[in-house]
Amino acid sequence: QPIAKHRPAWIEVSAEALKHNIAYIKALTQTKKVCAVVKANAYGHGLEVVVPVLQAQGVDAFAVATMDEGIWLRDFGVTQPILILGVTPAHYIDTVAEYDLTPVVPSLEWLESALNVLPHGDTLKLSVAVDSGMGRIGIRDHAELAAVVALIASRSDLTFESIWTHFATADTTNVDYFEQQLQNWHDLVDDQAIPESTWRHLANSGTSLWHELPSHDMIRLGAGMYGFDPSQGDLPNRDLMPVMSVKAELVHVKEVPAGSSISYGATYTTTEKEWIGTLPIGYADGYPRAMQGMTGLLPDGRRVEVIGRIAMDQCMVRLPEALPVGTVVTLLGQVQDEKITLNDMATQAGTIPYEMATSMAQRLPRQLV
Ligand code: PLP
Repeated sequence: QPIAKHRPAWIEVSAEALKHNIAYIKALTQTKKVCAVVKANAYGHGLEVVVPVLQAQGVDAFAVATMDEGIWLRDFGVTQPILILGVTPAHYIDTVAEYDLTPVVPSLEWLESALNVLPHGDTLKLSVAVDSGMGRIGIRDHAELAAVVALIASRSDLTFESIWTHFATADTTNVDYFEQQLQNWHDLVDDQAIPESTWRHLANSGTSLWHELPSHDMIRLGAGMYGFDPSQGDLPNRDLMPVMSVKAELVHVKEVPAGSSISYGATYTTTEKEWIGTLPIGYADGYPRAMQGMTGLLPDGRRVEVIGRIAMDQCMVRLPEALPVGTVVTLLGQVQDEKITLNDMATQAGTIPYEMATSMAQRLPRQLV
């Protein structure tokens, strides 16, 4: 994205952390294949920096949410299977086939519509979604699933690549709903005439990190690969390394007298003489207004408080002393032994680390470190 080049505010993506997390989760789960979930610009980390690392690490497949994300990956040179996790409008099926993307079959009706418009002579890979209790997309009825399985088997232009389901509570302390979903899956799938070669994939990060894998064919790995804890500390800690850091340089530093107000709404007023630094990052970059009161880390690990309202493109920090313009402040990440995590930010904002990461704007440059 040429729009994100000349800015002293940026995201760092750790190749070492990505590689570590994949190797660690592979060893932990003993899964045969890893499908790297890279929807939403690789969870905000930046597709163009993340994908080459994942390819070098030998992931077996990619998952995206939309057809456009899949087309982007093909244009970028990805040759592995690309699964579109969201429902693709059936009338686009010619383009899906052209880019060799794997759409999800959420119902018999969808499959029939797609086959009606699949150009003669084209071949198509399919992934059947089973709704075992997520209540989002997928087949919930045994007879409907049997009809889908039979229809795919009857056509030589179709490949039954995979069948899957998604757990709603794999990252929580209560296992009852997980067990119920697993039972529903078995009831729907076990006696169907599904080819041996069709991959079964049920596990997201929560399932991979805290449950015995229901199938070792493949896992769909998002959060854990990016090194954040989907349980937000509720389940036992796993040895994951955070992949994303957010940093910005001080672009303006000043000393103000006691009684000076800072930023919109004049919500912060100095009680004594203070050094104030301005960072060129704001809520339009994905550093939300709720971060007022959070801290950043100086290069020596000291904490500085984010004071006053966060503006669209800038925010202010209270400095311990006069620091030079150009000093790097880490708003997310680790400096020496001090850390600010996506979970810390999410807790402050009343949301989840997924939303914090995926909200990072395109206009922040991404650097692989
Ligand atoms: N599978 C599906 C269907 C998803 O929607 C997602 C993410 O939302 C994932 C897998 C990856 O989940 P996680 O990031 O928790 O690993």
